[in-house]
Amino acid sequence: MTITYDPHHPMYLDEADTRAELTRVYDLCHGCRLCFKFCPSFPTLFDYIDQHDDQDAGKMTSAQQDHVIDECFQCKLCYINCPYIPGQSEWALDFPRLMLRADAMRRANGQVTLRDKATTAFMGNTDAIGKVSVATVKITNKVMGAKPGSLIRKAVEATAGISSVRLLPKFARERFSTWFDKRPKVRVGKKQGKVTVFPTCLVEYQEPAIGKALVKVYEHNGIECSLTGAGCCGAPYLHSGDMAKFTKVAVDNVATLAAEVRKGNDIVVPQPTCSYVLKKDYLDYVGGPDAQLVAEHTFDAAEYLMKVHKTEGSSLDTEFAGEVPETITYHTPCHLRAQNIGLKSRDLMKLTGAKIKLVQQCSGIDGMWGLRAENAELSIPIGKKLGEMVKDADGDVVAGDCHLANTAITEQSGTTPVHPLQVVAKAYGLDAE
Ligand code: SF4
Ligand code: SF4
Repeated sequence: MTITYDPHHPMYLDEADTRAELTRVYDLCHGCRLCFKFCPSFPTLFDYIDQHDDQDAGKMTSAQQDHVIDECFQCKLCYINCPYIPGQSEWALDFPRLMLRADAMRRANGQVTLRDKATTAFMGNTDAIGKVSVATVKITNKVMGAKPGSLIRKAVEATAGISSVRLLPKFARERFSTWFDKRPKVRVGKKQGKVTVFPTCLVEYQEPAIGKALVKVYEHNGIECSLTGAGCCGAPYLHSGDMAKFTKVAVDNVATLAAEVRKGNDIVVPQPTCSYVLKKDYLDYVGGPDAQLVAEHTFDAAEYLMKVHKTEGSSLDTEFAGEVPETITYHTPCHLRAQNIGLKSRDLMKLTGAKIKLVQQCSGIDGMWGLRAENAELSIPIGKKLGEMVKDADGDVVAGDCHLANTAITEQSGTTPVHPLQVVAKAYGLDAE
């Protein structure tokens, strides 16, 4: 049994070795039980072990081990909760990364169904889908926006594996990069920074308003923005165990982004899953000085602004002449919490004078896990809980950084959240449309 989270380790994809490591970790978690409330994986795991009088994790079958793996949606909350992580404990336990290893191992050993592979191939190809969907936006939105459970949605589920009952984010009429290239050149005042925006597929093809707000807020504060040609971060491949495709995407993106950093730019990312991937996963799968450089210079969009505000000699404009809500319900996405950077979007929105009500509950979407047909039944109750918490908080505005989690909030509460940068743009009185 090898304790490794290094995808290049010779034993990483070995089935017997990975399953022995699963037994070791499942046994430790069964003894600890701290994470029982985060997701279905842990209760499932504990139930299987408790079926045996001697509570021996080694008696779990491969199918039972796989059941636990399938229910992990990579929120990372167990990692931030765990006292036994590598570097802090001899147990060197990193549950989410072990799940990634197990997924990759199963794929490498032919244990993933054709249907599953087809869904990953479809959902992972976000750039191709995004380009076609924006070009045919009226038809695409009619299909994807058809009533949940309708015949047309059932046909999409049958062909692409996307749940027929979930609310899906709509596509935009114009790509963010098209807007960015067309807009008049802007001269910033007192220069406080220089960034390259990694727009993410969600902002590029589905919610460009987030990117527009980012650029306007940054430029308003003297931060020059340019745009990278790098494509999707590759998260849908990574979270489905397709190591080969993820690594290819990651290698290309690291080369492109490292060149931006060498030009003197930091990289800013307006979606939490994607900034997590750039900061953490590229280090594991690509490694080397370029991946390190990219990780060190990548910031969540609000994190970067708060860095400017807290750095001596620079600060954000704190005069808000626009519309400031009295209370904001703010949903903290798991993949931002997992970055251990504090709640920078909350701090940023607090500068406007609004009172922030926090909602810390997973959406159950995590990447695209909750949108896959086979996961909808498990994911919807998690989203429902979030929807109820948002309704109970009853803020004047609902804000959240993750566009997919925001879509789950809309689905479950009827309220459409905005990104924190959209709140701030509006508070400055900037026209971010
Ligand atoms: S990463 Fe999240 S979903 Fe996966 S096991 Fe940990 S808490 Fe559960
Ligand atoms: S991941 Fe860590 S904290 Fe969570 S149950 Fe396992 S050992 Fe305990």
